[in-house]
Amino acid sequence: MLAFLIEHPTEGLILYETGAGENYPEIVGAPVQDVFSRVDYDKSMNLDEQIALTGHKIEDVKMVIIGHLHLDHSGGLEHFRGKNVPVYVHELELKYAFYSVATKTDLGVYMPHYLTFDINWVPVHGSYYEIASGLNLHLSPGHTPGLMIMQVNLKNSGTWIFTSDQYHVKENFEDDVPQGWLARDHAAWVQSHQMIKGLKRRTNAKVVLGHCWDTVRALGLEFAPKAYD
Ligand SMILES: [Zn+2]
Repeated sequence: MLAFLIEHPTEGLILYETGAGENYPEIVGAPVQDVFSRVDYDKSMNLDEQIALTGHKIEDVKMVIIGHLHLDHSGGLEHFRGKNVPVYVHELELKYAFYSVATKTDLGVYMPHYLTFDINWVPVHGSYYEIASGLNLHLSPGHTPGLMIMQVNLKNSGTWIFTSDQYHVKENFEDDVPQGWLARDHAAWVQSHQMIKGLKRRTNAKVVLGHCWDTVRALGLEFAPKAYD
């Protein structure tokens, strides 16, 4: 479970996704907890502690961007309840997540604990949005209806694409292996996949996937304060 902190020259600290909440094990319920019990986790991996390792405080974050609202990407939003910090999510994701929880049609991957009215939700509309200079969001439906990948253009290390769960592991991306039942809309996933492959080709980007420890480790990004500029 990953979250990425960006130090933007004009916008300040921007967080892309928030990982799981600190109360994740209690909240997810028995079946997922069974998976969680096999995850190598300790408190030092918590969002606030990892941010502290970068020399910043979580209170300094000026903007949060959520790729998609599944519980293992939005749990850290607990730190942003009752705060003024804008939390950007695609309109379609926000609608689908609240709908899923309210009607219990896709409950279990979306959690009411993280979808509360005291968060400063800001919707993103359309297929593409340049949210800040060098920071581009692309709607990539498939895994969920409103997932947004983030393209970051850095001065020295070039272009990066953070895919959230459009891809869980590198086989999904490199070998074109779809996600099976984990994708809510297979046809949309294939279309998003083509868009991202094209984007990578055009920009020669490094691609960081939703849950691929191998990729993250190869980039040295598994723990703060490792950074690229
Ligand atoms: Zn997901």
